[in-house]
Amino acid sequence: MKHPSAQWVRRHPESLTSGPFLQAPEGNFIPADAPPPPLPDDIDWTPFPDRPTFEFAEVVYEESKLSKGKISKILRILAAKYVIDGLPEYDPIYQDHKALLDAIDAIEFGEVTWRTFAVRYRGPIGPNSPAWKRETFMVHARNTLRVAELLAACPDFDGKFDYVAYEEYTALDCRRVSNLMSGQWAWKQADKISEDPATRGAMLMPIILGADKTTVSVATGNQEFHPLYMSIGNIHNDMRRAHRDSVVPVAFLAIPKTTHEWENDEEFRIFKKQLYHTSIVKILEPLRPGMTTPHVLRCPDGHFRRAVFELGPFIADYPEQVYLSGIVSGWCPKCFSVPDHVFVAGDRRTRKTTRQKKATYTFEEQWDAFGINPDVEPFTNYFPRADIHELLSPDLLHQLIKGAFKDHLVTWVVEYIKATAPNEREANKIIDDIDRRITAAPPFPGLRHFPQGRNFKQWIGDDSKALMKVFLPAIVGYVPDKMVQCIAAFLDFCYIARRNTHDSHSLAAMTHLLTRFQELRIIFEEVGVRFNEGFALPRQHALFHYVRSIQLFGSPNGLCSSITESKHISAVKDPWRMSNKFNPIGQIIRRITRTNKLTAARSEAHDDSESEESAESSDSEDEEDERYRNLAEAVEDEEDNVEGHVHFSDTPAYCKTIRKVSQVLHEPSLLEHLRRFLKTQQDPDGPNPDLIPLDECPYVWNSERIDVYHCATATFYAPSELAGPGGMHRELIRATPSWWNQYSRYDTVLVSLNGDAMGMDGMTVARDGDNVHDCAFVEWFILDQPDPDPVTGMWVVRPDVREDGSRVMDVITIDSIARACHLSPVYGTTSLPHGFRYADSLDAFRRYYVNWYIDYHTHETLC
Ligand SMILES: [Zn+2]
Repeated sequence: MKHPSAQWVRRHPESLTSGPFLQAPEGNFIPADAPPPPLPDDIDWTPFPDRPTFEFAEVVYEESKLSKGKISKILRILAAKYVIDGLPEYDPIYQDHKALLDAIDAIEFGEVTWRTFAVRYRGPIGPNSPAWKRETFMVHARNTLRVAELLAACPDFDGKFDYVAYEEYTALDCRRVSNLMSGQWAWKQADKISEDPATRGAMLMPIILGADKTTVSVATGNQEFHPLYMSIGNIHNDMRRAHRDSVVPVAFLAIPKTTHEWENDEEFRIFKKQLYHTSIVKILEPLRPGMTTPHVLRCPDGHFRRAVFELGPFIADYPEQVYLSGIVSGWCPKCFSVPDHVFVAGDRRTRKTTRQKKATYTFEEQWDAFGINPDVEPFTNYFPRADIHELLSPDLLHQLIKGAFKDHLVTWVVEYIKATAPNEREANKIIDDIDRRITAAPPFPGLRHFPQGRNFKQWIGDDSKALMKVFLPAIVGYVPDKMVQCIAAFLDFCYIARRNTHDSHSLAAMTHLLTRFQELRIIFEEVGVRFNEGFALPRQHALFHYVRSIQLFGSPNGLCSSITESKHISAVKDPWRMSNKFNPIGQIIRRITRTNKLTAARSEAHDDSESEESAESSDSEDEEDERYRNLAEAVEDEEDNVEGHVHFSDTPAYCKTIRKVSQVLHEPSLLEHLRRFLKTQQDPDGPNPDLIPLDECPYVWNSERIDVYHCATATFYAPSELAGPGGMHRELIRATPSWWNQYSRYDTVLVSLNGDAMGMDGMTVARDGDNVHDCAFVEWFILDQPDPDPVTGMWVVRPDVREDGSRVMDVITIDSIARACHLSPVYGTTSLPHGFRYADSLDAFRRYYVNWYIDYHTHETLC
């Protein structure tokens, strides 16, 4: 596959065709070709005397998160060692724990001071007023202007940062969107900036916000925190997902509590919402001047530019969206579609249309007919231009993965099984078998292996994404075909939505799939699972707004709540765990500040020796991305080589004679296959190797020694992936007789039989055997039918066998391997025996689905 980027033409708003206008730090214009202001040559570790002292602090405080007691203990051990050695002048690395913290606090960079402001009810208070009216609530926040400066100045984002909005087209007017600055919204904002003489030529800096409550458990109950996060839209999506300092906490919002008596009091509920919006307005106040008058700040390339801030997409789950947009729960925050009729997107909800309705209708009419909560004035209304209804971004995690998939489709399937089985015991038997089928999925990189007996109904949170990969093949035979088709249409929609790049074709496909899903969804009504409730669910309705949101903001995976959720770990959960749990917020804030300072110090020292560690390691929701991220790193030196290829790991597993290898593999025919392979190498246009008489093939001695590898690396081009350099990705393919000392593991791969074709037409599935020179010993699978399976939509293959029942095998050159693929057994209607081992899956079944739901890259390749 050729890298297609060459055909894309990028254009910028007209006023910016000469590029962004560079500034001197004082704000004067400088020529466009001027070098950035110089950075210090030497690595400066101030206030630390040297690098080891800095790294000691980094390791014990940040990476290992050691307690005060443990840090003191290490320092005492080091001191004792000096005393024993009788060293005369002991100069300890740190005198004590406090000295270490003082040193971190003295770092000049990364400091954005937190301040606390108090908020309370301002209405009349009488002697019988509830307690919350007298109470003061605390909001902790950082200066958002300083945070914007800090985000923009981080040199790690150099090359991963857009300074101007842009549009990308092909000659055929196919538009492509990926990062925020490539979408229609950024272009529109950039236009507004250039129309205004006061801001013309300035850089658009979208302020991305995200809010999400999170809970930590304590012995006495749970404690909630409500962090507000901020990022900037110039940073590329992949950076926002991977770099720990691309999304930062800017505030902890107040969570007003009252006694049970007043909890559902209307006045209290209104107060909570008003408090929420007032707080956010106050938190964003420092950015306000920069929304109309450009603010000069340093950018990742070291240059200074004039920036204009603009409130950008807001990442939030549905309950938070209800709060944010001032709608009545159950309604859509983006349109006026009536909850009972959510089959279509209604008239667009905007700041203007909402204002018109508020001016025209009574309180009750607004509430009942339009779902407007008249008591709430969204925070965006206090700022120029911003419209919260437009800015609420699509949320893959809560709307598609946890919502429409797990909470709806998986639940409805279970309900269907329970409703149609003769009794509860039979129903449970089916559910248990689906469990076993899921567990029997052959291994694949990025696929979590689920232990048997873990009921899939109970899977929560981040397991939903794993369930998506293996769910469909497991239910075939137990539910009506139409139900499988319905879920397949949804999964296709979801996998396309998750791509890193979208163009007119992928958006047209999504529109088509949505219609198909909507038509097929009726099956759940037909079988009586969704009878009264229908599909009037906000998270089902949200699907209608995806295509437009992608056109506006680019790929949703750069604005997903999985980003803010994974942030909770470093911003709330870890610091909370390290606190003494008593009034923890101050301690949490101190830890966030110190961690920021340490990272900023490393960035400022221009030392990227540990940059790979800056990826958020605890992002469990995105194991898959993590995998690609790690692999993409290693591909960097191969940027010019845009063809996919496969090569072996550095060292062979062993080197033995062909006779010995045949014995190890239990494959007496290995020698024969090798000879035929050598013949095909000599004569590539010759007949099918099976038809060549053996005595026409080059002679090979059985005592010749060959290197055998258990592992190969496939580097392939992922079409929609802009993340890796040149969109290249890498994955491991294994052919191991003993995987983790347990089972053998022979991965399945796609073999390209026709160099130009991509997708199943030119590919055949082969199971990787062992390797000789640059070739692989494979067992073939062939297409079972010329067309994909009409129910699941996936291709079905079967093992290729000879008349005598033996498997068709070949030695093939590894260049013909495209990449790994996942085969999922076609279970039919028989149930799996108890104790079935997943390691046997590839031998036990007659037919297999080429499972393209295993990850979204595979889906894209085969779809
Ligand atoms: Zn809507």
